[in-house]
This record gives sequence, C-alpha cells and structure tokens, in this order.
Amino acid sequence: MVQQKRYRFGRTNLKISRLVYGSLPLGPLQANVAPEEGGELIRHAIKLGVNVIDTAELYGTYRHIREGLKGVSQQPHIISKTHAATAVDARRHVERALNEMNVQKLDVLHIHGARLVNPFIDRAEVLAEMKSMQREGLVDYLGLSTHYICAVKQAAEHPDIDVIHPLINRDGMGILDGTPAEMAEAIAYAAKCDKGIYGMKALAGGNLIKEARECFRFVLNLPGMHALAIGMLSKEEIEGNYKLLTTGEAEATVWEQLEKRERQIQIMEQFCKGCGACIPACTNHGIFLENGKAKIIKEACILCGYCAAACPEFIIRVV
Ligand code: SF4
Ligand code: SF4
Repeated sequence: MVQQKRYRFGRTNLKISRLVYGSLPLGPLQANVAPEEGGELIRHAIKLGVNVIDTAELYGTYRHIREGLKGVSQQPHIISKTHAATAVDARRHVERALNEMNVQKLDVLHIHGARLVNPFIDRAEVLAEMKSMQREGLVDYLGLSTHYICAVKQAAEHPDIDVIHPLINRDGMGILDGTPAEMAEAIAYAAKCDKGIYGMKALAGGNLIKEARECFRFVLNLPGMHALAIGMLSKEEIEGNYKLLTTGEAEATVWEQLEKRERQIQIMEQFCKGCGACIPACTNHGIFLENGKAKIIKEACILCGYCAAACPEFIIRVV
C-alpha cells in the first residue's frame, strides 16, 4: 500500500493527492462505461488514496461519481465545471451536479473555458452567479479550466479565482496560443499568485501514450504544478498512475503494458448529416467537412471528445 500523501493546493484549504481522477473517459463522450462499473473504478482510486474527482456538466459522469462515493469512508473533493453562458444555466448546472452526485456542495467550480480567450469578460455574468452560489455554500472555491496561456495569466491575477486547470503536455498539443514553455511560465506565475493548479491532457488525450511515464513526469515536475488529472479506465491504470505520481516509481512490466494502449476517435460516417455542429466545438481545428461528411485531422486531435458532445446524431466517439 502506497502512503497516502497530501499536498497544499494554492490558497485553498484543500489538501490533495497528486493524482486527480479525471472522469471524462468514463462518460458518453468517450468509453461510456456503465455508472456501476465507473463507480467501482472511482471507489478503487479513493481507497488507494486519490482524494479529488474531476468532472464537468459536459462529461455526463455524475452518476458514475455517485456510485463511486457509495461506501467510502472518506469523501473525496469534487471539482466540476460549467460551460454555461448565462447565470440561469450556471445555477442549473450546479443544481444538477449536486443532485445527481448526491453531494451537499462542490469543492471547486470552474468556468469551463477551454476555448475562451477572455473568460472573465465573456463569462462575467456566470462568474457573478458562481460567486453568489459560493456565498450560499453550494461551492467552496472558484476556478478556470482553459487551453489558453493568456487565460491562465488572467486567472492568476483574478481575485475571485482560487484554482486553475490548464492544458499542458510535453509537446504542447492542444495549447491554443503558444508553446509548452510559455504555458509552463504562466503556470509558475499563477502558482506564485497562490492559485491551486492541476494539469490536464498530460498525454494529449492519449496521443503521447507510448511515452506516458516521461510525459507524466514532465508535467508533474513543472514549477507550480500541484497535481494532475488523468482519465482512467482500469484498476491497473489507477494503481500505476497513483504510484508514479505519489512515489515516482514505475514498474517496468506494468508500464510496458499501459504504454501499449491505443486510443482513437471514430465517426460513423454513413450517418453523418454534414450539419457542421461538431466543427466549432473543436478547440484545435481538428475536424472539418469534406463532401458533406465530418473528417478528423489526426495530427490536431487531442481526443477530448468535445465534438462528440456537439453532434446531434451521436455518431462521434473516442474509444
Ligand atoms: S476533433 Fe473532436 S476529439 Fe479531436 S480535438 Fe477536436 S473536439 Fe477534441
Ligand atoms: S455534428 Fe455529427 S452529423 Fe453534424 S457534421 Fe459533425 S459528425 Fe456529422
């Protein structure tokens, strides 16, 4: 049993594990595992020592988390995100989160701002409502999740933001306005401003899986990085990641298997109506229409599944 270490998380009162359970792959945008099965994985991670679960209104994983919380002695911290553009929708998203996960409050609520260059201008109304919900005790801390370096810098200096969830990986895949070094610099600055920081897409959605150990270490060792959210679909992955992030150790035989996994995006082209709804959903210009059918640009795709959420025909899946 690996020792359950906890780490400071910026100016929040939370003490967190280095490994954050990223729930995105469990839901309908990706592997779409049954809530009971996903819950079993989450519970396994919690028992091991993971004490933060990352989710979002968009992910469709609240029922998995509700299952995962059953029977655990120590409740983990729950972080969710709202992509709402209005106050009414933001409140609806939080109410749904609390109701579907059967929890009293969210520990952190992010503006789900992947594609927002100026999140505090574009989501001013939403942030005001988030602050209201914070005063009401529905949310403890406020945050921003983003793929933009400029937004990390804005969040670093924003008085209402406690936590930042930036996209960062060794190769910079998915960073929308600069290099990994520039994102790393913004992250270090935000940490100096005493924000809690946990990274996302350390493997660029699976594109860097063959060098997973190196890529996880790269992100975790960045100055100011407190933790990493990693999507996980098996107990072996959870155990391997927890040990690597907590102790730095990686058993060669386990990781040789883990690094062989392949992930890909699939579009059931014969059912594509050519509506184009998936195109603006992509942060990376990774999908386009050709002869009335959606096509993927493999080099640009970070396997996030956001295009899948936007497709009214439900024909895109990251598997
Ligand atoms: S094509 Fe889809 S899965 Fe790939 S990066 Fe764009 S939104 Fe994400
Ligand atoms: S949203 Fe779905 S149906 Fe519309 S173009 Fe994209 S893949 Fe095709």
